[in-house]
Amino acid sequence: MLGKKRIINFVILFLIISIFISNIFCLAQQEEVSVFLDGNLLNTEVPPHINNGRIFLPARDIVEALGGRITWFPALKLLNIIMSDREVSVVMDVPEAEVNGKDITIENAPSIIQNRVMLPLEVISLLTDLEADLDKESNQLNINRKRPLITGIRNYTHPDKTRIVLDLSEKTAYNVLTLNDPERIVIDIDASISQLESEQKEVLIDNLLVSRVRTGQFNQDTVRVVADLKNMNEYDVFELSSPQRIVLDIYMSQEQAGSAAESSFPPEVREETLPETEAAAVKENDKYVVVIDPGHGGSQPGAIGPSGLKEKDVVLDIALKLKRILQNEGFSIYLTREKDVDVSLESRPLMALQKEADVFISIHINSVFQKGSPTAKGVETYVLNSRHTDASAKDVADRENKASEFYNSGDDILDIILGDLSESASIDFSLDLADMVQKRLVQQTGLGNRGVKQAPFIVLKGVNMAAVLVEVGFICNPNEEKLLKTSEFREKIAQALSQSVKDYLKNMPENI
Ligand SMILES: [Zn+2]
Repeated sequence: MLGKKRIINFVILFLIISIFISNIFCLAQQEEVSVFLDGNLLNTEVPPHINNGRIFLPARDIVEALGGRITWFPALKLLNIIMSDREVSVVMDVPEAEVNGKDITIENAPSIIQNRVMLPLEVISLLTDLEADLDKESNQLNINRKRPLITGIRNYTHPDKTRIVLDLSEKTAYNVLTLNDPERIVIDIDASISQLESEQKEVLIDNLLVSRVRTGQFNQDTVRVVADLKNMNEYDVFELSSPQRIVLDIYMSQEQAGSAAESSFPPEVREETLPETEAAAVKENDKYVVVIDPGHGGSQPGAIGPSGLKEKDVVLDIALKLKRILQNEGFSIYLTREKDVDVSLESRPLMALQKEADVFISIHINSVFQKGSPTAKGVETYVLNSRHTDASAKDVADRENKASEFYNSGDDILDIILGDLSESASIDFSLDLADMVQKRLVQQTGLGNRGVKQAPFIVLKGVNMAAVLVEVGFICNPNEEKLLKTSEFREKIAQALSQSVKDYLKNMPENI
């Protein structure tokens, strides 16, 4: 048993020890760190520091240095950060973050220290892909961003425009400006060119509109792409996703199109720009071959809606309508099936190869079987690639591939169906077509836009032309099933598909 005095002694001793320990921690808490972002010292109003082995940085300084925008809601202690493709929200002292609408758990909560909002390194890594490395001896933290890369530059000369396409590893911010004397269009991209082949850094085009395209690392953060023009013409810059691209279109003026028809240009250029009568245009169209592939058929019903509507019947009707429209305009059209019969997945692209098709379009209706699936909705267009855009793209590919006898759900499916196709130009053609198909379908059907995606489909295997697979709505969704039942809605889909095929063929690059 302890006497009263001894207890008091113990309490005092305990207090002394705890004050001593907390002093040690205090020292540890105050340990300052110097931060280098992409090799440059980050200047901050309050110093970044290590707190119990965790690194905290002043929110505003680091976010602004990363090029993000910050909004602080003091009453809620909520911080909202917008970066180029990400939106992150955190609440002080709450170990959770919302990233692009999704809640995730974080180990270290942000907090207010010395009247400043401080973010743990963990939250900063949610804003941008980075590598961080702390040198414990010098207390120096190096944060290096994984820069978006420009992976390629392509150009196409169309009768009415020149298109320059910049391939990117991911979405990134860009700015456009024009300079004159000589006339130039400049695109500054927040990226690095380290992956660009040296012969791609200056590309000679020398057509009626553009002399050449040059690319260089303008400064540490920026790649500058310069199109040297013959004249300053109307132009358009926009981005496309999956994969990420920035596209510059430079348009031919009326006068240029007119003068191109005069004798000052070689005869082949004149022919391209000569106005055609409608009848001549229709006759022209028969040089284009389109193979239409209604999915499934016969013993393979495809997806089935809640009221029993079968994918195989809807897509056959759409395919027949599309055939009628395109045939009336003179195109050469073949269907992989015209009736409710079994057709193997492998023989479908074979037909497109045998007919030397310019366009191969496979028509399907989407469906998902997970809980809550009746609410899935919208249109998506696929092109073949070795990788899936996202998990749901894999589900769709798995489902549509099931009809193949070679199919198994393992990863070796990629070996079976890929070959070297993903490296060939048909991916670019297919992406161009897919963008047009997706845009027209969304416009004309009013269905939701699920975007252009890439996944390995057997039906698209070995096709060396523009080849896409469309999933026109969800048959599992009672609202979309109802629409798909009507001939009127199927006609809309066929019209959208025919329009996009025509858009594509009209602008098809002749040679790459
Ligand atoms: Zn299908």
